Amino acid sequence: MRPIQARISVGAMAHNLRVARSHAGAARVFAVVKANAYGHGLSRARRALAAADGFAVLTLEEAANLRQMGVEQPILLLEGIFGPDEIAACAELDLWPVLHHHVHLDWLQQQPPARPIQVFLKFDSGMHRLGFPLADHAAAVARTKSLAGVAGLTLMTHFAQADEAAGVGWQLQPFLEQMARYGLPWSSANSAALLRYPDTLGTWVRPGLMLYGASPFADVSAEQLGLRPVMTLQSEIISVQILQAGEGVGYGQLFRAERTMRVGVVACGYADGYPRHALTGTPVLVNGRASRTLGRVSMDMLCVDLSECPDAGVGSRVVLWGEGLPVDTVATAAGTSSYELLCALAPRVPIEEAD
Ligand SMILES: *Cc1c(COP(=O)(O)O)cnc(C)c1O
Repeated sequence: MRPIQARISVGAMAHNLRVARSHAGAARVFAVVKANAYGHGLSRARRALAAADGFAVLTLEEAANLRQMGVEQPILLLEGIFGPDEIAACAELDLWPVLHHHVHLDWLQQQPPARPIQVFLKFDSGMHRLGFPLADHAAAVARTKSLAGVAGLTLMTHFAQADEAAGVGWQLQPFLEQMARYGLPWSSANSAALLRYPDTLGTWVRPGLMLYGASPFADVSAEQLGLRPVMTLQSEIISVQILQAGEGVGYGQLFRAERTMRVGVVACGYADGYPRHALTGTPVLVNGRASRTLGRVSMDMLCVDLSECPDAGVGSRVVLWGEGLPVDTVATAAGTSSYELLCALAPRVPIEEAD
């Protein structure tokens, strides 16, 4: 069998939920498990995160799967419904759709659900992606309240820069100013806001990334936040090459040896989810020792520097990210984010579940 595997710790995920809860105060916690729980497996995440007050997903299919698995908590559909045909399932499965456009209100009006449903009304406070303009709050709230198919509504927004220096204030203040008059439940916080801005907590918080042990911040590590790594992507060296000075390795011969050196060939490539655009120097652990990638990542293999790893050879363990090498560190070195690395884990990588 190919030696690559992703070890996923359900205990670490459960721990990270407790960290989220410790920041949430009285707010209730939706565990965000979209995108196959950020690559960790929906069913596994459901078990690890069973103590969450609710789950948030993207699609009806994911929500139906959660119900089939026995989830009884509220389930939020983060992008709402994609057609009027999805309204019936919301009522049947007790799913809470986000309504972010007048077309959703039209659908609800034309095809009211068999019994009234809970909805989240999403406002655009500056991200300019989804949501009713803040300025239209009166009309949007009044129209939603008037719908016979709506049992109750929660006001919602989403932050564009909660992880950056600009922060949330420029969006949060106008949002709260307009929403305060309604006295309705509200929700705004993703992981970054939950961790950094207690005034964003509201009624429901929506952490995703932090549950999987990664930090949303460039300047604060997951460890500093008390988070534990959940996914460890690991493989083994399947061949060793000796390069002479001037010889290159891999496609494009992008890395060339300056002196004689040993290179390990690792069974992990971009078809496993390792980023192809990672340049020479992206950190890896070989036998627990810090090393780096060399040259271009191929579909099924990548090369690592064994200069400082004299004991390493065929069969040596290589950690691509996870335990001992934060996914955030690898993401930064590769010019991407931990979100993308975790979500991109390929279905062909066998998963080994750990405590
Ligand atoms: C994905 C998502 C979240 C979770 O964000 P993280 O940064 O992963 O914590 C929260 N809210 C909405 C609307 C989302 O789409």
